[in-house]
Amino acid sequence: MSDKSPVIVWFRQDLRLHDHAALVAAVDSGRPVIPVYIWSPAEEGAWAYGGAKKWWLHHSLKALNDSLVKLGSNLILRAGQALDVLNDLIKETGASSVYWSRRYEPAIIKRDSDIKEQLRKSGIEAESYNASLLWEPWVITTKTGGPCQVYTPFWKNCLAHSVPAEPLPTPDKLISPAKFPVTKKLTELKLLPTIDWADEFPETWEPGELAGVKRLESFLDSKVPGYQQERNRPDVYGTSRLSPYLHFGEVSPRLIWHEVVEHFGRPRPEKKSSADVYLSEVVWREFGYHLLYHFPQTPTEPLRPKYAAFPWVESKMHYRAWSKGLTGYPIVDAGMRELWRTGWMHNRVRMIVASFLTKHLLISWQHGAAWFWDTLLDADLASNTFGWQWSAGCGADAAPYFRIFHPVIQGEKFDPEGIYVRKYVPELANLPNEWIHKPFEAPPLVLKEAGIKLGATYPKPIVDHKEARAKALGALASIAHEELG
Ligand code: FAD
Repeated sequence: MSDKSPVIVWFRQDLRLHDHAALVAAVDSGRPVIPVYIWSPAEEGAWAYGGAKKWWLHHSLKALNDSLVKLGSNLILRAGQALDVLNDLIKETGASSVYWSRRYEPAIIKRDSDIKEQLRKSGIEAESYNASLLWEPWVITTKTGGPCQVYTPFWKNCLAHSVPAEPLPTPDKLISPAKFPVTKKLTELKLLPTIDWADEFPETWEPGELAGVKRLESFLDSKVPGYQQERNRPDVYGTSRLSPYLHFGEVSPRLIWHEVVEHFGRPRPEKKSSADVYLSEVVWREFGYHLLYHFPQTPTEPLRPKYAAFPWVESKMHYRAWSKGLTGYPIVDAGMRELWRTGWMHNRVRMIVASFLTKHLLISWQHGAAWFWDTLLDADLASNTFGWQWSAGCGADAAPYFRIFHPVIQGEKFDPEGIYVRKYVPELANLPNEWIHKPFEAPPLVLKEAGIKLGATYPKPIVDHKEARAKALGALASIAHEELG
């Protein structure tokens, strides 16, 4: 007699139905499928979901359930220790298989391998699949078989290694079990913030697979050709803004890869077109996962050990001014306010604010990463760790610490008409372009006409660029000798 016991598909950061190998395997088994999501924040180690991500997750789970209902199924929500919950579900439903998509955060790798071992010991089939990456972290290596620490060879090795698999189609239908197990109500997971912080998020974001795929399509239709020119400009909508969808697995990276290739051709290692550059950015995400997997200590420790001795200053007052967007440097303040209002920040501005925190204020990158962790909708342990270590100069292929972004010059270069600053720092809206990135140098009459009183309506700079730069270089010199050791 053929096995008709249900298969549990355990959804995690793969909240979609397209290109979902675990789901396809369950459907192909011809057995009933029980889709499950388990809320288990305690198992994320030190990296439980921050506030912004919980907001996204709430809406994403709702969207996933809506899509499952259309296929004649349901998403079962549970909370607690994942293994306990899975064992309960196995008992309640008679399921004999559990399938899931792999995650690569150190605490989750450990948890998942324990779960796999325990389930298999008790006679349950436990299988995991790749849903999140084009090349899993162990696939690409240096010539000597070690992990890559420099991006360009990593990118070239990826292209030379293999073409990512074609995305799998969405199943037409899921066979339901005779009776679905009891589910918690989504609101019982208490994912939404109790304050009104996230009220503006829906103006910018619609979580879920359908919205993510739609965003990808419109990006392909209208924005890819200009990507290379515009990707550094926070004042224009020049990037795909797919990062939260990628993080939550609502859009598969293989779908992105193959759609871009279909529209614009295969990427070339020398990055000859905007489409090549775009795919190479998607591969930076892969590089982050590669590094996190091979250097699992890096969410808290610098990849380059000498930076562990860096003499950070850690002023609470400066940290507060930075996080609230009150540093007196308009491009920094606009970025931090964009983050607070929309749960996202443009990549160029992420680099500027991270440089400002670690180099102008001498506050450690770990503090910056923690603020981003709580406020970014796309907060991702691999990309966030990598982005902060890169910006602070202590990571792989990093911007050297001595290269200190000048916040005024960065603003003038990438937001030349101050459109971005005016949007997020409205108290500067009436300042002429010439002064928009340096109100502290504007003549008194200009300030007066723009309705600005420095120190009252908008802060004076909390540090002087030249002095801060000199201090940062001094701090760097204090650890430089360790490079020789
Ligand atoms: P696009 O330019 O359209 O790129 C497409 C996709 O490629 C992105 O969605 C993203 O998945 C990937 N990507 C692009 N640039 C990078 C990059 N530099 N590093 C890694 N992946 C990249 N990204 C996150 O997803 N989560 C984070 O927590 C995160 N923290 C960061 C912290 C700092 C300090 C810095 C400097 C960067 C961080 N990034 C992070 C990377 C990058 O800023 C975002 O991925 C990007 O801004 C997302 O916008 P987009 O989707 O429009 O990108």
